[in-house]
Amino acid sequence: MYNVTLIPGDGTGPEIVEATKKCIDATGVGIDWDVQECGIEVIEAEGSVPTRVLDSIKKNQVALKGPITTPIGKGFRSVNVFLRQELNLFACVRPCKSYKGVRSYYEETNVDLILVRENTEDLYAGVEFKAGEAGTADVIRTINEKSTGKKIGTSADETGVSIKPISVSGTRRIVDHAFKYAVDNKRKSVTSVCKANIMKFTDGLWYDESRAVAMAYGSEFEWEELREGVEPAKDISAAGGSGVKYMERLIDNMCMQLVQKPELYDVVVTQNLYGDILSDLCAGLVGGLGVAPGANIGTEAALFEATHGSAPKYKGQNKVNPTALILSGKLMLDYLGERDAGARLEAAVAEVIAEGKDVTYDMKPDRNDPTAVGTQEMAEAICRKLR
Ligand code: NAD
Repeated sequence: MYNVTLIPGDGTGPEIVEATKKCIDATGVGIDWDVQECGIEVIEAEGSVPTRVLDSIKKNQVALKGPITTPIGKGFRSVNVFLRQELNLFACVRPCKSYKGVRSYYEETNVDLILVRENTEDLYAGVEFKAGEAGTADVIRTINEKSTGKKIGTSADETGVSIKPISVSGTRRIVDHAFKYAVDNKRKSVTSVCKANIMKFTDGLWYDESRAVAMAYGSEFEWEELREGVEPAKDISAAGGSGVKYMERLIDNMCMQLVQKPELYDVVVTQNLYGDILSDLCAGLVGGLGVAPGANIGTEAALFEATHGSAPKYKGQNKVNPTALILSGKLMLDYLGERDAGARLEAAVAEVIAEGKDVTYDMKPDRNDPTAVGTQEMAEAICRKLR
């Protein structure tokens, strides 16, 4: 029996969480669900994420979560970002896979990508200085005094500054995670993505450390010159000889490559901002948000959630597609070591989608198709395949 924190979220969250719980329970894996309310109503009433929610996740170390609404331009900060930061969930893993029956421009291509995004550093670290504030003038003055290269030529009155920290330890940790995933899941390659030709001290460092980790895994490098002067990262406990190939792409080129030949890529590891953009691009390759699952993983806890948001306009209508959260549940089963159950759950989802009968409106060729089923009915069809 596993203890798992279950966060229904808000908007359509509770409906897709109920559907997902049903499917996971139907795999026969024993889970004691610790339900923790943490939607917009709770946050508004209590002023912040209740301590009991964090305590539950820390105790159980695994959580399945429905989406939570973030008010735009007012009210509380994103609960989703807060949980990732508070629990130090440094790795965001998003598989993007084609399933027969899901409409996309790439139906004839077998897309099967794993995007591994660093979740804690980069321009998303939140170290920002607003135009017109006194502190910003100090920052600009210091930068201009210390910089050995370019200087900021505009005044603090009209210039905002966001800082991009990229560390050796943060880079090694996420690239190691990507390689471990590749080894554990018998993947062929890891592609490290950034813009090192422009940002030499952040993205240059990222490539240096990616290579050091790849070398510790005994990887074959796509180009021999990438190995020049690289020492294997000594703090990485890799077995070596992993058989996983190491490749590099600049972010702009990667966008084009993924659009033109996504089948050439396997595990892709990148920084926070590039990862945010690439994960939507990759979701688009395989049919959009309705089928895009996700996992946020740290050393002490892991939180599984769909890529999409709370779709509040459909709240309470038993209408939206539960697939992305159910596939996140598959990732959770894999994480718990229940790989057989995870594979059976994925196969059941794939079968229901391929049959095209018991699917929600967004998966029908015509979105007004009256034969579309509701969220719970699609989940029940998946459960029937599991019995
Ligand atoms: P959204 O993902 O909720 O919706 C975008 C579009 O996709 C909408 O047209 C919606 O109808 C459709 N859609 C989304 N999920 C669907 C599903 N399962 N089945 C069918 N159609 C689906 O994005 P948004 O409207 O930008 O965000 C709504 C709220 O969710 C915002 O407050 C946002 O901050 C929040 N959000 C939360 C998370 C999270 O909890 N991790 C992630 C993203 C957005």
